[in-house]
Amino acid sequence: MTPVFAQRHLLGTRSLTAPEITDLLDRADRYVAVNRSANKKLDVLAGRTVVNLFYENSTRTRTSFELAAKRLGADVVNMQTGASSVAKGETLIDTAATLNAMHPDVLVVRHHDSGAVSLLSQKVNCAVVNAGDGKHEHPTQGLLDALTIRRRKGRLEGLKIAICGDVVHSRVARSDIHLLTTMGAEVRLVAPRTLCISGAESMGVSVFHDLKKGIADCDIVMMLRIQNERMSGGFIPSTREYFRFFGLDREKLACAKPDALVMHPGPMNRGVEIDSDIADDVERSVIREQVEMGVAVRMAVLETVTRNLAQERGEPWEKTK
Ligand code: ASP
Repeated sequence: MTPVFAQRHLLGTRSLTAPEITDLLDRADRYVAVNRSANKKLDVLAGRTVVNLFYENSTRTRTSFELAAKRLGADVVNMQTGASSVAKGETLIDTAATLNAMHPDVLVVRHHDSGAVSLLSQKVNCAVVNAGDGKHEHPTQGLLDALTIRRRKGRLEGLKIAICGDVVHSRVARSDIHLLTTMGAEVRLVAPRTLCISGAESMGVSVFHDLKKGIADCDIVMMLRIQNERMSGGFIPSTREYFRFFGLDREKLACAKPDALVMHPGPMNRGVEIDSDIADDVERSVIREQVEMGVAVRMAVLETVTRNLAQERGEPWEKTK
């Protein structure tokens, strides 16, 4: 079936509609079963090339995109900027133009500057997927969070979801806010004043500066990493102090619903934003499941944007599932 999301690039969740999100999640849901089966190899993207261009470190996202592309049968190239001409001073646009000349079908790009991936997408004629740009967006993380929640709770609409911690530096928070509010969830931001987005209420969320009050009666408690690499100066007094007030432990979690699920996009700072006791509690924590859903979501996204690209180029798309 033709995807509802009809764009060549996936740059963020802000512009996604509810039907587009639902269709991407439905497609990803089908790939979960493939990933759990013995033979994970499909030919949906056979003959296509996916290039991962990562200007920032990544464990989960890069591996996940690589696995997703390989499971769909694509050829994958991983560009490590430290070992490429980027280290010699080549600009983002020159690197993109160089890669574009080799006719990839999809460029998956992570960059430390907000807006860099969108700029790059205007200079190439392949599809571009944003794998995280600065503090701006991380759309596939938003989708995988939504898929994890929808599979566990059966819906997104009407759920109370608290996004807690270093919200101001988090592209995950921004992508989740747009996506989850579009799907009808009630989103709360819980953060110290120094780590909150100013004027966040205009994004359709409510804001709390007390963790216990913020997560009270919530269905989902999503913890965020303290992003030291994006901080210059004193946003928090000390990690010990931060954990005391904003770290999730069993006592604070008791304020949420008894069946509330705990999420974290990773990598975790254990003992800073989350206690190991909670992170490793398989009854409450779905952190590993988020990683699993990440591969399925990226398969759905890669398939969709490649199909849209083929359609735009007037190429036949025979490998329909
Ligand atoms: N892995 C996520 C990201 O790339 C979250 C994090 O780094 O804290 O934004």
